[in-house]
Amino acid sequence: MQDTIVTVRIKGVNCHCIRGRENILVDTGYPGSLPALEEGMLEAGIRLESIATIVLTHGHWDHYGSLRELKMRTRAQAVAHQKDVDQIQEGRNGPLRPYGIPGRAAKLLGRKQPMQPSEMAGVEYAIEGEVSLEPFGVEGKILETPGHTAGSISLLLESGDLLVGDSLMGVLPWRKCHMPLFVDEPESQLETILKIASLDFQRIHMGHGGMVSRQEFYRFYERVKRRFL
Ligand SMILES: [Zn+2]
Ligand SMILES: [Zn+2]
Repeated sequence: MQDTIVTVRIKGVNCHCIRGRENILVDTGYPGSLPALEEGMLEAGIRLESIATIVLTHGHWDHYGSLRELKMRTRAQAVAHQKDVDQIQEGRNGPLRPYGIPGRAAKLLGRKQPMQPSEMAGVEYAIEGEVSLEPFGVEGKILETPGHTAGSISLLLESGDLLVGDSLMGVLPWRKCHMPLFVDEPESQLETILKIASLDFQRIHMGHGGMVSRQEFYRFYERVKRRFL
């Protein structure tokens, strides 16, 4: 059976629910996203309480901000890369190094709004390396895709779906797929793009923007190769 992905977009952030033997939620949105998330999931026939695991693609508060609210409603346990766990548990965003002019603009526009201690939550599984999703009820694996942050991860599913968090972005109106607006580790980011190009996937689901086909990703990849490699 193929896993199906339900995407709920809240304030420009995509939360993805993977339906497997057990349901995995990938990213939680900003603090306060729970009501919209619950509504969007119910429209797809999924109860919030059915989420067994929450995978956080990286330690930015637009992705982990509602972790605490979710954990108070579900019995879900959180998974994140070891390198981003501290910033998640301390409610920080990390360095946010802007990439290009759109990144600098985003940094200027983005308000620094640290999480309140009452909004913070713990991570049960601090992972590193490649990790199978089988024990979490889904056919697939977690891969390290650093660059946007040191601990950015992606999920590659047997169904051909690749969920990349902010390792790729689709927020610029003139491009469906481009570099993240923040790249904390530029060299790792280029390696991550090469790694993604080597993977067997059909569709990419990003933290911001729409779904991207394999062909669309390769158009981006060719531009990156011309510019950097
Ligand atoms: Zn991010
Ligand atoms: Zn983001």
